Amino acid sequence: MADKKAKKFKPYKKGKSCPRCGAGTRLAEHKDRLSCGKCGYMEKK
Ligand SMILES: [Zn+2]
Repeated sequence: MADKKAKKFKPYKKGKSCPRCGAGTRLAEHKDRLSCGKCGYMEKK
């Protein structure tokens, strides 16, 4: 049986970097905002 516990996060090619985590972490793009998957930082577009 396949065990799919670990989901891989897709790397974001474009977008801003997270001010908390540093330049290596990109913010995920949503409709009207950007968010960081690591620390939960959110930013309005
Ligand atoms: Zn972050």
